[in-house]
Amino acid sequence: MSRIVVVGAGIVGLCSALHLLERGCAVTVIDNDPAGQAASWGNAGHIATEQVEPLASPAMLRSAPGRLFMRGGALALPPRALRSWLPFALRLVAASRPASFAAGRDALAALLHHALPAWEDVLQKAGTPDLLRQDGHFVLWQDAAAAEAGQAHWVNAATGTASVHPAHGDELARLTALCSVPVAGAIRFDGTAQIADLAGLRAALREAVIARGGRLVDGTATLQIRRGRAEVDGMADHAVLVCAGVRSAALMRQAGHRVPIIAERGYHIRSTDHDWPDDMPPVVFEQRSLIVTRYRTALQAASFVELQQPDAPADPRKWARLERHVGELGLPMRGPFRRWIGSRPTFPDYLPAIGRSTRVGNLHYAFGHQHLGLTLAPVTARAVAAMMVGEQPDLSLAPFDLERFA
Ligand SMILES: Cc1cc2nc3c(=O)[nH]c(=O)nc-3n(C[C@H](O)[C@H](O)[C@H](O)COP(=O)(O)OP(=O)(O)OC[C@H]3O[C@@H](n4cnc5c(N)ncnc54)[C@H](O)[C@@H]3O)c2cc1C
Repeated sequence: MSRIVVVGAGIVGLCSALHLLERGCAVTVIDNDPAGQAASWGNAGHIATEQVEPLASPAMLRSAPGRLFMRGGALALPPRALRSWLPFALRLVAASRPASFAAGRDALAALLHHALPAWEDVLQKAGTPDLLRQDGHFVLWQDAAAAEAGQAHWVNAATGTASVHPAHGDELARLTALCSVPVAGAIRFDGTAQIADLAGLRAALREAVIARGGRLVDGTATLQIRRGRAEVDGMADHAVLVCAGVRSAALMRQAGHRVPIIAERGYHIRSTDHDWPDDMPPVVFEQRSLIVTRYRTALQAASFVELQQPDAPADPRKWARLERHVGELGLPMRGPFRRWIGSRPTFPDYLPAIGRSTRVGNLHYAFGHQHLGLTLAPVTARAVAAMMVGEQPDLSLAPFDLERFA
């Protein structure tokens, strides 16, 4: 039986552990987030099958100046973090060339194609299929010109297995009733989904791992290379799978890999005091870069892309801005708000890293899923588990090889 140590029990690590256990491996998962504060448990809950176009794109570069935080937008480039984000930004510009963008879109589309069935499968394994709500999602605009441009964009964009239509009369009426500002236009996606409860998801996956004989260990794992093999916490005879989100870089560097990942930090506020309808799927207020998600126990408003060191202090202006958005839109959500910050693990080409190290034979990795880590965790887990036990993954992992940064 293969013995495997997984570093990180975020969504990617737990799904991977489950798939490895299903293939008969003995699995130990080490994680240092006992309170469940990682990105996996505070995100917007959206299974974003429509996002096949990487954010590293010519269109994103054109729109970036207008999206800056100081101009009321969601993109924050803190001057003190210049040494972190400038090299990242330069690589992002290179990755936005039309040919790189097209290759990235094909690679992401191949992963996203299997994302929803992979979620159905993983939740079936965990015994909680009801955590997946397959009701699509809405995007809306407050002014007519933005609505026209936004709708035209989405109608022409690649959306993979998801489809989009202009919101019809009833849908528009429901959206209009949610806020006190006029709704100039909206679209509804079909074929996208939502996780109904992230804390419930974490608990169900952890239980499923334990029920199959997996071991969950609290602690910070260290990785060393000894005699050409990766060794985590003295477990010399184990294969290693690094799923440590934005912290994966430090671990992979031990094996000599270049890992130009950055923390794209996002913020949310949550409240249990709200009148949002139970059956409303996620709603994106596009002009405010705000996504509102109805979870089983709370309503959440999330936003921001702050390129920062993961451990830098949070910027309270971001939570204040979120509260202002909620107030100005007149959303039926009242304080006190619970405040949260988390790091999306992001590479400059907006593709994840999934594969086997070319430098150290027993070292494998699955991290860097940027805005799509929740969406892509089960499909990633299935592919990486197959690769680790010598099966043929059901999609090519070549575009996600870390050596692309060598
Ligand atoms: C505001 C926001 C909204 C988002 N919305 C969505 C969305 O709607 N849909 C979507 O698909 N994605 C979304 N994302 C992105 C998604 O949350 C991430 O891509 C995903 O959670 C990454 O998962 P992960 O398991 O790779 O990393 P993480 O969730 O960061 O988990 C890594 C785990 O490894 C542990 N760890 C790290 N180093 C060590 C070590 N040395 N030893 C032991 N443990 C270690 C960490 O403590 C953590 O528990 C959003 C992110 C943010 C911030």
